[in-house]
Amino acid sequence: VADKVAHFKQDVWSIFTPLAAQLNAVNLGQGFMNFPPPDFVRQAAIDAINTDGCNQYAHPKGRSRLLKALAKSYSPLFNRTLDPETEVVVTAGANEGLYAIFAGFLDDGDEVILMEPFFDQYIANITMNGGVPVYVPLRPHGDTNKIMSSSDWKLDINELRSKITPRTKIIVLNTPHNPVGKVFSKEELLEIGQLVQEFNLLLISDEVYDRLYYKPDVHERIANLPGLWEHTITIGSGGKTFGTTGWRVGWSIGHKDLIKTVLSAQTRIVFCVNSPLQEAIAISLEEAEAHDYYEKHISSYEQRREKMCKALSDAGLPYTIPQGAYYVLANIKGIKIPEDYEYPENLNGRPRDFKVCYWLAKEIGVVAIPPSEFYCEGNRHLGEDYARFAFCKTDETLEAAAKALLKLK
Ligand code: GLN
Repeated sequence: VADKVAHFKQDVWSIFTPLAAQLNAVNLGQGFMNFPPPDFVRQAAIDAINTDGCNQYAHPKGRSRLLKALAKSYSPLFNRTLDPETEVVVTAGANEGLYAIFAGFLDDGDEVILMEPFFDQYIANITMNGGVPVYVPLRPHGDTNKIMSSSDWKLDINELRSKITPRTKIIVLNTPHNPVGKVFSKEELLEIGQLVQEFNLLLISDEVYDRLYYKPDVHERIANLPGLWEHTITIGSGGKTFGTTGWRVGWSIGHKDLIKTVLSAQTRIVFCVNSPLQEAIAISLEEAEAHDYYEKHISSYEQRREKMCKALSDAGLPYTIPQGAYYVLANIKGIKIPEDYEYPENLNGRPRDFKVCYWLAKEIGVVAIPPSEFYCEGNRHLGEDYARFAFCKTDETLEAAAKALLKLK
């Protein structure tokens, strides 16, 4: 086994997703929807499969209809007329887009700055491409034993500055943020953007939850700030946008010189993304506004967020109210587990939040994700007092979770 893979530990998803099934627990772990995508989206996939010319290879940069639909849908959001041929590339999920960016821009030993907690997949995407992750935590300000807002989780910009070295090539930003739910304010983005320009860095802005932010917050795009278009690749996701995470259709948007490099790497990784589902996402984008889809999407998630937060309040767990995305971090410090409680072997040596999440699954019947997985070794303790609950679930599932969590009282 190659060194770059040999050190991988069992990932958090393959521990907790099977555990939910095995224990028949309510699964608020992995962030996937347990309800179908909207009818017009499903119908688009059926129609695409039935259309001649949709079932063979696509162009590596993406099917023309999807590139055009993305340019049309995103041009107003980026305050510019996007060129579908040069400023957009379709990727096999946002994840492969990230992999292609790291493959395209990193030389061995180049450093990539990540904010903790980070989406775990970033790490392997960076290290498999020779890069070195460097970490800077978002820290909660205020009383973490009370209900907080994700805006209370702050980046210390001087700490970020102190992590920049001559080897720094990329900063990764994630807004709306998984797992904190933070929607970075314009002021915060300006500070980060200033460093990006000062040190001539590449900024990857992972905005897969860009259609999911809650009043009064609005999602600001760092690529729109003065001087940052040339420095930024923005990542988007068909799965998050239309509730089709298994379709693996994502995209990267940015200056043509940046997108050219992503395309050149991605052509050698997957060659092209599956054709019919690209067509289906294109049709979905074309039809979304006529269905008032984005407003309905936000308001349905607002209701889910409310249900989730109430469930945690009723269970007596303090938590961070997310401004965006579909996760809530709950503070689990107060949960006491007997000293002699027995855990399965694959949790040996794992931090306390893994143990609490196992106990929650087994004794309470609700699966959550331990967020220490989203921190580097040295900062694991910063995540150990939390559990992440995903609320991209049906009302029935959220109600079942609420009922089960009452056992914590
Ligand atoms: N983004 C989703 C989450 O955070 C799915 C992660 C995954 O399956 N790798 O839950």
